[in-house]
Amino acid sequence: MAYKIPLFDLNFGEEEIQAVADTINSNWISTGPKCEELEQQFVDKFYVKHAVSMSNCTDALHLACILCGIKEGDEVICPSLTFAASANCIRYVGAHPVFADISSFEDINIDPKDIEKKITPKTKAIIVVHMAGFPANMDEIMAIANKYNLRVIEDACHGPLSEYKGKKLGTIGDVGCFSFFSNKNISTGEGGMLITNNDDYAKKARLLRSHGMTTMSYQRAGGHATSYDIVELGYNYRMDDIRASIGLVQMKKLPKNLQQRLHVRKWYNEKLQRVKGVILPFAQNEEFVSNYIMPIVLKDSNVEKRDRVREKLHAAGIQTSVHYPAIHKFSIYKQYGAILPTTDYVTDNEITLPMYAALTEDEIDFIVETLDTAVNE
Ligand SMILES: *Cc1c(COP(=O)(O)O)cnc(C)c1O
Repeated sequence: MAYKIPLFDLNFGEEEIQAVADTINSNWISTGPKCEELEQQFVDKFYVKHAVSMSNCTDALHLACILCGIKEGDEVICPSLTFAASANCIRYVGAHPVFADISSFEDINIDPKDIEKKITPKTKAIIVVHMAGFPANMDEIMAIANKYNLRVIEDACHGPLSEYKGKKLGTIGDVGCFSFFSNKNISTGEGGMLITNNDDYAKKARLLRSHGMTTMSYQRAGGHATSYDIVELGYNYRMDDIRASIGLVQMKKLPKNLQQRLHVRKWYNEKLQRVKGVILPFAQNEEFVSNYIMPIVLKDSNVEKRDRVREKLHAAGIQTSVHYPAIHKFSIYKQYGAILPTTDYVTDNEITLPMYAALTEDEIDFIVETLDTAVNE
């Protein structure tokens, strides 16, 4: 069934179509000048030294783990209330994810106190996810990282241009990773970006994303190089110019899109305050944020009640989701035996409401009224 109000609305139009056509007509469609241009956009807009375009964020996270020197048998602390890729990347390099709980029902980001409790002599790094684009407590996390000499990888998929105390998310830790999957703030279908201020990391990321080759096809086609060496065991994690050209249009649209999302969030906030039985995470946030998604948490609830409420929204034509099914409960992660009471409650009682720039005040009113009835009848 087509929803009256979908969870997300793809912000694509004629400009994206034209950009793809132009790239195809240019006769260069794989990694090339458009990827470079998109990387430069990230360098300029995020005030970061290096940006390396990638085929998706999962690849960026994998390379981030390699760059940070995470190896077999190491431990990496990460949240469980996130997408599986935030933990899978730890396994790719043979390390063990150690799940930390979230702070509270109001702050559903990783809890710095629980991070510190879970540090052992084997801990090598922390992966931080900025849920819905709201910044995790980076001051405390960086202080812990400095104290124990740990690397910090920011999975900033939800937060392009989101800020923490004047800094862009993804630029505070050692490496920041972004996704351009179709439902993210910037969409290219599939795509990603790795950003860092570390020169060596950037150089190595460029090598590893392209088989560890010393030159790329585009350089050879331009006559700048004729041969290459393989100096690292690399991968093919490259983005292509077709996607990058879509990304460039999306980057141009992003500031206005984020402004509209701010209004959507504000309207939701005002209306939701009158709804009993609903917690609005990050209600106190005053930073500029991307508002990637609109999570709420039901009070004094359980998974059956949450699913009933979602079913009623569904019946009214409102699409919802859950962010996220907690990773530590998945079959391949149960063995780690994580005990995360706050994550357990939120994963069972969270509902993600529709969030996109074109969502109208009337539609939000309808969503909140339907929610109120479903929660409180
Ligand atoms: C989307 C997402 C990813 C994965 O990104 P891909 O580009 O699809 O690989 C990883 N982490 C988080 C938090 C995400 O939301």
